[in-house]
Amino acid sequence: MYDIIVIGAGPAGLTAALYARRAEKTVLVIEKESFGGQITHSPKVENYPGFVSISGSDLGDKMLEHATELGVEIELDTVTGISGERGDLTVTADGGEFHAKSVIIATGSKHRTLGLPDEELYTGEGVSYCAVCDGAFYKDKTVAIVGGGNSALQEAVLLSESCKWVYVIQNLPYLTGEASLAQILERRTNVSVICSHTVTELIGDGKTLSGIKIKNADTEAVSELKLDGVFVAIGQVPENGPFESAVTLNDYGYIEADEDCMPRSNLPGVFAAGDCRTKKIRQVATAVADGAVAALAAARFIDTL
Ligand SMILES: Cc1cc2nc3c(=O)[nH]c(=O)nc-3n(C[C@H](O)[C@H](O)[C@H](O)COP(=O)(O)OP(=O)(O)OC[C@H]3O[C@@H](n4cnc5c(N)ncnc54)[C@H](O)[C@@H]3O)c2cc1C
Repeated sequence: MYDIIVIGAGPAGLTAALYARRAEKTVLVIEKESFGGQITHSPKVENYPGFVSISGSDLGDKMLEHATELGVEIELDTVTGISGERGDLTVTADGGEFHAKSVIIATGSKHRTLGLPDEELYTGEGVSYCAVCDGAFYKDKTVAIVGGGNSALQEAVLLSESCKWVYVIQNLPYLTGEASLAQILERRTNVSVICSHTVTELIGDGKTLSGIKIKNADTEAVSELKLDGVFVAIGQVPENGPFESAVTLNDYGYIEADEDCMPRSNLPGVFAAGDCRTKKIRQVATAVADGAVAALAAARFIDTL
Protein backbone atom coordinates (compact mmCIF):
# COMPACT_ATOMS: atom_id res chain seq x y z
CA MET A 1 0.00 0.00 0.00
CA TYR A 2 1.24 3.50 -0.88
CA ASP A 3 0.82 6.45 1.44
CA ILE A 4 -0.44 8.62 -1.42
CA ILE A 5 -1.63 7.91 -4.96
CA VAL A 6 -1.77 10.91 -7.27
CA ILE A 7 -4.02 10.56 -10.33
CA GLY A 8 -2.63 12.63 -13.23
CA ALA A 9 0.93 13.72 -14.03
CA GLY A 10 0.27 17.34 -14.98
CA PRO A 11 1.78 20.28 -13.08
CA ALA A 12 -0.64 19.79 -10.15
CA GLY A 13 -0.04 16.05 -9.86
CA LEU A 14 3.74 16.21 -10.22
CA THR A 15 3.99 19.04 -7.66
CA ALA A 16 1.78 17.09 -5.25
CA ALA A 17 4.06 14.06 -5.71
CA LEU A 18 7.18 16.17 -5.08
CA TYR A 19 5.79 17.72 -1.86
CA ALA A 20 4.51 14.33 -0.66
CA ARG A 21 7.95 12.74 -1.13
CA ARG A 22 9.59 15.62 0.73
CA ALA A 23 7.11 14.89 3.56
CA GLU A 24 8.58 11.36 3.48
CA LYS A 25 5.48 9.65 2.13
CA THR A 26 5.55 6.86 -0.45
CA VAL A 27 3.96 8.09 -3.67
CA LEU A 28 2.62 6.55 -6.86
CA VAL A 29 1.54 8.80 -9.76
CA ILE A 30 -0.82 7.21 -12.30
CA GLU A 31 -0.96 8.92 -15.70
CA LYS A 32 -3.00 7.78 -18.68
CA GLU A 33 -1.45 9.80 -21.51
CA SER A 34 1.29 12.39 -21.39
CA PHE A 35 3.63 13.18 -18.52
CA GLY A 36 3.48 16.94 -17.96
CA GLY A 37 -0.24 17.23 -18.74
CA GLN A 38 -1.85 19.86 -20.96
CA ILE A 39 1.06 22.25 -20.79
CA THR A 40 3.05 19.93 -23.06
CA HIS A 41 0.78 21.27 -25.87
CA SER A 42 1.99 24.83 -25.39
CA PRO A 43 4.83 26.00 -27.64
CA LYS A 44 5.91 28.75 -25.25
CA VAL A 45 5.20 29.34 -21.60
CA GLU A 46 6.17 32.85 -20.61
CA ASN A 47 4.30 33.34 -17.35
CA TYR A 48 5.75 30.68 -15.08
CA PRO A 49 8.20 32.18 -12.57
CA GLY A 50 11.83 31.22 -13.06
CA PHE A 51 11.56 30.81 -16.83
CA VAL A 52 11.37 33.86 -19.07
CA SER A 53 10.39 31.53 -21.89
CA ILE A 54 10.24 27.75 -21.98
CA SER A 55 8.39 25.22 -24.12
CA GLY A 56 5.57 23.42 -22.32
CA SER A 57 7.10 20.03 -23.02
CA ASP A 58 10.46 21.11 -21.52
CA LEU A 59 8.67 22.42 -18.45
CA GLY A 60 6.71 19.16 -18.11
CA ASP A 61 9.94 17.13 -18.51
CA LYS A 62 11.65 19.16 -15.78
CA MET A 63 8.71 18.62 -13.40
CA LEU A 64 8.69 14.88 -14.12
CA GLU A 65 12.46 14.62 -13.63
CA HIS A 66 12.25 16.52 -10.33
CA ALA A 67 9.54 14.19 -9.00
CA THR A 68 11.22 10.94 -10.11
CA GLU A 69 14.61 12.10 -8.72
CA LEU A 70 12.91 12.23 -5.32
CA GLY A 71 11.70 8.64 -5.64
CA VAL A 72 8.15 9.12 -6.91
CA GLU A 73 6.91 5.98 -8.67
CA ILE A 74 5.10 6.32 -11.98
CA GLU A 75 2.52 4.06 -13.61
CA LEU A 76 1.04 4.48 -17.10
CA ASP A 77 -2.63 3.51 -16.72
CA THR A 78 -6.14 4.98 -16.87
CA VAL A 79 -7.92 5.35 -13.55
CA THR A 80 -11.59 4.40 -13.64
CA GLY A 81 -12.67 4.91 -10.01
CA ILE A 82 -11.91 5.28 -6.31
CA SER A 83 -13.54 3.37 -3.46
CA GLY A 84 -12.75 2.15 0.05
CA GLU A 85 -12.75 3.51 3.55
CA ARG A 86 -10.73 5.74 5.87
CA GLY A 87 -7.06 4.77 5.63
CA ASP A 88 -7.59 2.11 2.94
CA LEU A 89 -8.56 3.52 -0.44
CA THR A 90 -8.66 1.49 -3.65
CA VAL A 91 -7.83 3.15 -6.95
CA THR A 92 -9.19 1.09 -9.82
CA ALA A 93 -7.50 1.39 -13.20
CA ASP A 94 -7.72 -0.43 -16.53
CA GLY A 95 -4.60 -2.40 -15.61
CA GLY A 96 -5.59 -3.35 -12.05
CA GLU A 97 -6.09 -2.04 -8.52
CA PHE A 98 -3.78 0.12 -6.43
CA HIS A 99 -4.08 0.87 -2.69
CA ALA A 100 -3.25 3.99 -0.70
CA LYS A 101 -4.08 5.78 2.53
CA SER A 102 -4.82 9.01 0.64
CA VAL A 103 -5.59 9.91 -2.99
CA ILE A 104 -5.05 13.22 -4.77
CA ILE A 105 -7.14 13.69 -7.93
CA ALA A 106 -5.22 15.92 -10.37
CA THR A 107 -6.80 14.93 -13.67
CA GLY A 108 -6.98 18.42 -15.19
CA SER A 109 -9.13 18.89 -18.26
CA LYS A 110 -9.04 18.21 -21.98
CA HIS A 111 -10.01 19.96 -25.21
CA ARG A 112 -13.66 20.61 -26.07
CA THR A 113 -14.84 19.30 -29.44
CA LEU A 114 -17.04 21.13 -31.98
CA GLY A 115 -19.66 18.39 -31.67
CA LEU A 116 -20.13 18.18 -35.45
CA PRO A 117 -20.91 15.06 -37.50
CA ASP A 118 -17.73 13.49 -38.94
CA GLU A 119 -15.50 15.33 -36.44
CA GLU A 120 -14.10 12.04 -35.18
CA LEU A 121 -13.77 10.72 -38.75
CA TYR A 122 -11.58 13.67 -39.78
CA THR A 123 -9.57 13.86 -36.55
CA GLY A 124 -5.97 13.40 -37.62
CA GLU A 125 -7.07 13.81 -41.27
CA GLY A 126 -7.53 17.57 -41.22
CA VAL A 127 -9.06 18.17 -37.77
CA SER A 128 -6.63 18.76 -34.91
CA TYR A 129 -6.82 20.01 -31.33
CA CYS A 130 -3.15 20.89 -30.94
CA ALA A 131 -1.24 23.24 -33.24
CA VAL A 132 2.06 22.59 -31.52
CA CYS A 133 1.64 18.85 -32.08
CA ASP A 134 0.30 18.92 -35.66
CA GLY A 135 1.11 22.39 -37.01
CA ALA A 136 4.23 21.18 -38.84
CA PHE A 137 2.05 19.02 -41.12
CA TYR A 138 0.45 22.18 -42.50
CA LYS A 139 3.53 24.10 -43.64
CA ASP A 140 2.58 26.34 -46.61
CA LYS A 141 -1.07 25.20 -46.34
CA THR A 142 -4.31 27.00 -45.51
CA VAL A 143 -5.78 26.36 -42.08
CA ALA A 144 -8.39 27.72 -39.67
CA ILE A 145 -8.26 28.04 -35.91
CA VAL A 146 -11.66 27.87 -34.23
CA GLY A 147 -11.78 29.97 -31.06
CA GLY A 148 -10.82 33.42 -29.89
CA GLY A 149 -9.32 32.89 -26.42
CA ASN A 150 -5.66 32.80 -25.38
CA SER A 151 -5.00 29.24 -26.51
CA ALA A 152 -6.58 29.89 -29.93
CA LEU A 153 -4.62 33.12 -30.45
CA GLN A 154 -1.34 31.55 -29.32
CA GLU A 155 -1.90 28.69 -31.76
CA ALA A 156 -2.84 31.12 -34.57
CA VAL A 157 0.42 33.03 -34.01
CA LEU A 158 2.36 29.78 -34.15
CA LEU A 159 0.62 28.55 -37.33
CA SER A 160 0.99 31.92 -39.07
CA GLU A 161 4.76 31.43 -38.92
CA SER A 162 4.64 28.43 -41.28
CA CYS A 163 1.21 28.24 -42.94
CA LYS A 164 0.25 30.02 -46.15
CA TRP A 165 -2.96 31.42 -44.66
CA VAL A 166 -4.61 31.25 -41.24
CA TYR A 167 -8.28 32.05 -40.59
CA VAL A 168 -9.32 32.67 -36.99
CA ILE A 169 -13.03 31.85 -36.57
CA GLN A 170 -14.62 33.23 -33.43
CA ASN A 171 -18.32 32.86 -32.50
CA LEU A 172 -18.42 36.11 -30.47
CA PRO A 173 -18.20 39.61 -32.04
CA TYR A 174 -14.73 40.09 -30.44
CA LEU A 175 -11.65 38.08 -29.50
CA THR A 176 -11.43 37.17 -25.82
CA GLY A 177 -7.68 36.42 -25.65
CA GLU A 178 -4.93 38.82 -24.54
CA ALA A 179 -4.78 42.09 -26.51
CA SER A 180 -1.04 41.59 -27.11
CA LEU A 181 -1.71 38.33 -28.98
CA ALA A 182 -4.50 39.94 -31.03
CA GLN A 183 -2.10 42.75 -31.98
CA ILE A 184 0.51 40.26 -33.19
CA LEU A 185 -2.14 38.64 -35.40
CA GLU A 186 -3.27 42.03 -36.75
CA ARG A 187 0.28 42.68 -37.94
CA ARG A 188 0.54 39.34 -39.76
CA THR A 189 -0.17 39.57 -43.49
CA ASN A 190 -1.39 35.96 -43.79
CA VAL A 191 -4.11 36.02 -41.09
CA SER A 192 -7.84 36.81 -41.37
CA VAL A 193 -9.90 37.10 -38.20
CA ILE A 194 -13.58 36.28 -38.77
CA CYS A 195 -15.75 37.13 -35.75
CA SER A 196 -19.47 36.35 -35.14
CA HIS A 197 -19.27 33.09 -37.10
CA THR A 198 -19.75 29.48 -36.04
CA VAL A 199 -18.56 26.35 -37.82
CA THR A 200 -21.62 24.39 -38.95
CA GLU A 201 -20.16 21.65 -41.13
CA LEU A 202 -16.93 19.82 -41.90
CA ILE A 203 -16.49 19.15 -45.63
CA GLY A 204 -14.48 16.29 -47.06
CA ASP A 205 -14.50 13.09 -49.07
CA GLY A 206 -15.08 10.85 -46.08
CA LYS A 207 -11.34 10.39 -45.59
CA THR A 208 -9.71 13.82 -45.61
CA LEU A 209 -11.06 17.23 -44.70
CA SER A 210 -11.16 19.81 -47.51
CA GLY A 211 -13.01 22.71 -45.90
CA ILE A 212 -15.64 23.96 -43.48
CA LYS A 213 -18.96 25.79 -43.64
CA ILE A 214 -19.34 28.80 -41.36
CA LYS A 215 -22.51 30.69 -40.44
CA ASN A 216 -22.76 34.40 -39.76
CA ALA A 217 -24.46 34.81 -36.36
CA ASP A 218 -26.14 38.09 -37.41
CA THR A 219 -27.31 37.36 -40.98
CA GLU A 220 -27.36 33.53 -40.80
CA ALA A 221 -25.57 33.54 -44.18
CA VAL A 222 -23.51 30.39 -44.70
CA SER A 223 -20.18 30.48 -46.54
CA GLU A 224 -17.53 27.91 -47.32
CA LEU A 225 -13.80 28.04 -46.64
CA LYS A 226 -11.48 25.71 -48.53
CA LEU A 227 -8.92 24.43 -46.02
CA ASP A 228 -6.21 21.86 -45.54
CA GLY A 229 -6.75 21.78 -41.80
CA VAL A 230 -8.84 23.08 -38.94
CA PHE A 231 -7.52 23.47 -35.40
CA VAL A 232 -10.13 23.47 -32.65
CA ALA A 233 -9.25 25.63 -29.62
CA ILE A 234 -12.58 26.31 -27.90
CA GLY A 235 -11.76 25.50 -24.32
CA GLN A 236 -11.49 22.64 -21.96
CA VAL A 237 -13.75 20.16 -20.18
CA PRO A 238 -12.84 18.32 -16.96
CA GLU A 239 -12.32 14.56 -16.93
CA ASN A 240 -13.93 13.76 -13.60
CA GLY A 241 -16.46 11.13 -14.73
CA PRO A 242 -14.62 8.29 -12.91
CA PHE A 243 -14.91 10.16 -9.59
CA GLU A 244 -18.57 11.24 -9.60
CA SER A 245 -19.54 8.69 -6.96
CA ALA A 246 -16.60 9.65 -4.72
CA VAL A 247 -16.67 13.48 -4.83
CA THR A 248 -19.25 16.17 -5.57
CA LEU A 249 -19.05 17.68 -9.06
CA ASN A 250 -20.54 21.04 -10.06
CA ASP A 251 -22.86 21.52 -13.07
CA TYR A 252 -19.85 21.73 -15.40
CA GLY A 253 -18.23 18.56 -14.07
CA TYR A 254 -15.53 20.24 -11.95
CA ILE A 255 -14.81 18.85 -8.47
CA GLU A 256 -16.23 21.17 -5.84
CA ALA A 257 -13.17 22.04 -3.77
CA ASP A 258 -11.79 25.30 -2.50
CA GLU A 259 -8.30 26.71 -2.00
CA ASP A 260 -7.77 23.98 0.64
CA CYS A 261 -8.16 21.32 -2.14
CA MET A 262 -10.60 19.41 0.09
CA PRO A 263 -13.61 18.20 -1.93
CA ARG A 264 -16.99 17.33 -0.50
CA SER A 265 -16.48 13.59 -0.43
CA ASN A 266 -17.83 10.46 1.17
CA LEU A 267 -14.26 9.09 1.18
CA PRO A 268 -11.95 10.59 3.82
CA GLY A 269 -8.43 11.20 2.54
CA VAL A 270 -9.40 12.22 -1.00
CA PHE A 271 -8.12 15.61 -2.23
CA ALA A 272 -8.43 17.50 -5.56
CA ALA A 273 -5.75 19.70 -7.12
CA GLY A 274 -5.37 21.79 -10.26
CA ASP A 275 -7.63 22.38 -13.25
CA CYS A 276 -9.99 19.52 -12.26
CA ARG A 277 -11.43 21.53 -9.36
CA THR A 278 -13.67 24.60 -9.20
CA LYS A 279 -11.49 27.72 -9.48
CA LYS A 280 -11.29 31.02 -11.30
CA ILE A 281 -7.80 30.85 -12.82
CA ARG A 282 -6.58 27.69 -14.54
CA GLN A 283 -2.86 28.09 -15.10
CA VAL A 284 0.37 26.24 -14.31
CA ALA A 285 1.06 28.58 -11.39
CA THR A 286 -2.33 27.86 -9.77
CA ALA A 287 -2.05 24.13 -10.53
CA VAL A 288 1.34 23.78 -8.82
CA ALA A 289 0.05 25.80 -5.86
CA ASP A 290 -2.82 23.32 -5.51
CA GLY A 291 -0.39 20.40 -5.77
CA ALA A 292 1.58 21.70 -2.78
CA VAL A 293 -1.56 22.40 -0.70
CA ALA A 294 -3.14 19.01 -1.47
CA ALA A 295 0.05 17.04 -0.74
CA LEU A 296 0.59 18.70 2.62
CA ALA A 297 -3.10 18.19 3.52
CA ALA A 298 -2.81 14.52 2.52
CA ALA A 299 0.37 14.11 4.60
CA ARG A 300 -1.36 15.67 7.62
CA PHE A 301 -4.35 13.36 7.11
CA ILE A 302 -2.11 10.28 6.99
CA ASP A 303 -0.39 11.34 10.22
CA THR A 304 -3.79 11.24 11.99
CA LEU A 305 -4.48 7.61 11.03
C1 LIG B 1 -2.42 24.95 -25.58
C2 LIG B 1 -2.33 25.34 -24.13
C3 LIG B 1 -1.52 26.39 -23.74
C4 LIG B 1 -1.40 26.78 -22.40
N1 LIG B 1 -0.55 27.79 -22.06
C5 LIG B 1 -0.37 28.11 -20.75
C6 LIG B 1 0.59 29.10 -20.38
O1 LIG B 1 1.26 29.71 -21.23
N2 LIG B 1 0.74 29.37 -19.05
C7 LIG B 1 0.02 28.72 -18.08
O2 LIG B 1 0.23 28.99 -16.89
N3 LIG B 1 -0.90 27.78 -18.42
C8 LIG B 1 -1.12 27.45 -19.72
N4 LIG B 1 -2.04 26.49 -20.07
C9 LIG B 1 -2.88 25.91 -18.99
C10 LIG B 1 -2.10 24.84 -18.20
O3 LIG B 1 -1.56 23.90 -19.10
C11 LIG B 1 -3.01 24.15 -17.20
O4 LIG B 1 -3.61 25.11 -16.36
C12 LIG B 1 -2.24 23.15 -16.34
O5 LIG B 1 -1.60 22.19 -17.16
C13 LIG B 1 -3.18 22.44 -15.38
O6 LIG B 1 -2.44 21.48 -14.71
P1 LIG B 1 -3.16 20.20 -14.04
O7 LIG B 1 -2.05 19.37 -13.50
O8 LIG B 1 -4.23 20.65 -13.15
O9 LIG B 1 -3.90 19.44 -15.23
P2 LIG B 1 -3.38 18.84 -16.62
O10 LIG B 1 -2.20 19.57 -17.10
O11 LIG B 1 -4.60 18.76 -17.47
O12 LIG B 1 -2.90 17.36 -16.24
C14 LIG B 1 -3.83 16.36 -15.89
C15 LIG B 1 -3.26 14.99 -16.25
O13 LIG B 1 -4.14 13.98 -15.75
C16 LIG B 1 -4.21 12.93 -16.69
N5 LIG B 1 -5.47 12.19 -16.49
C17 LIG B 1 -6.74 12.64 -16.72
N6 LIG B 1 -7.63 11.68 -16.41
C18 LIG B 1 -6.92 10.60 -15.99
C19 LIG B 1 -7.28 9.29 -15.55
N7 LIG B 1 -8.57 8.90 -15.47
N8 LIG B 1 -6.28 8.42 -15.21
C20 LIG B 1 -4.98 8.80 -15.28
N9 LIG B 1 -4.58 10.03 -15.70
C21 LIG B 1 -5.54 10.90 -16.03
C22 LIG B 1 -4.16 13.65 -18.04
O14 LIG B 1 -3.74 12.78 -19.08
C23 LIG B 1 -3.15 14.77 -17.75
O15 LIG B 1 -1.83 14.40 -18.09
C24 LIG B 1 -2.16 26.08 -21.40
C25 LIG B 1 -3.00 25.02 -21.77
C26 LIG B 1 -3.07 24.64 -23.13
C27 LIG B 1 -3.97 23.47 -23.51
